[in-house]
Amino acid sequence: MTGWVKIAGLGPGKETLVTEEVRLILAEATDAVGYFPYVARVPERDGLTLHGSDNRVEVDRALHALEMAENGQKVVVVSSGDPGVFAMASAVFEAMEKDADRFAEIDVEVLPGITAMLAGAARLGAPLGHDFAAINLSDNLKPWDIIEKRLRLAGQAGFAMAFYNPRSKSRPHQFARALEILREECGGDCLISFARNVSLPDETLNTVALAEATPEMADMRTVVIVGNPQTRRIGKYIYTPRFAE
Ligand code: SAH
Repeated sequence: MTGWVKIAGLGPGKETLVTEEVRLILAEATDAVGYFPYVARVPERDGLTLHGSDNRVEVDRALHALEMAENGQKVVVVSSGDPGVFAMASAVFEAMEKDADRFAEIDVEVLPGITAMLAGAARLGAPLGHDFAAINLSDNLKPWDIIEKRLRLAGQAGFAMAFYNPRSKSRPHQFARALEILREECGGDCLISFARNVSLPDETLNTVALAEATPEMADMRTVVIVGNPQTRRIGKYIYTPRFAE
């Protein structure tokens, strides 16, 4: 049996937002690897072994997937949303790079999923309808200084922005600082939306002016979308025009 690694995005949570391609691979795999809550979303069946692991062990987990594929197993590595967005696809390639001669021949494929910012934007209307930047606010894998710089420059450039991992218990002050920077660069009237548990039964959507935004409006289940200076409300929707003024 020839093994493979498919790195699959499970979408934001709702079953109908899992692509058909991913569904077929989940039905074919012999092993599923990923962070516990994502592996828990894979339907159990005979012939499939689930390997849930803790957060922050991405490269070890990726290595395990490559080793199983080397032994002929059909391994699906699961991420929420899209696996290429702050998730497992890069971790698998990082693990391959550590032992490039050994792993170069392994059949690896990335299967896209609907990422949180696009699912959230769709629920809000069209806040990302013009140019935008996606920024991970976690400083696990980069210094906070870089995050501040990117926020400032994206604000100055007039990008709308989507933030992943906006606020965790281990770094409660950083999102307050991010809001300060955004107010300085974008102004207090700019719209900011908090989309929590998008596509799930307890989904919430909340849009306010940056001047009214507070850090408690976000947690790790929230994707935050800041409009550009033209972003506005139309009825209950938020949209960004396709043109720059
Ligand atoms: N690969 C994932 C992102 C992983 S980072 C993707 O493409 O969506 C984890 C962050 O994604 C969370 O902190 C949150 O900001 C966001 N997120 C993931 N699922 C979400 C959902 N259903 N609703 C809102 N935000 C979500």
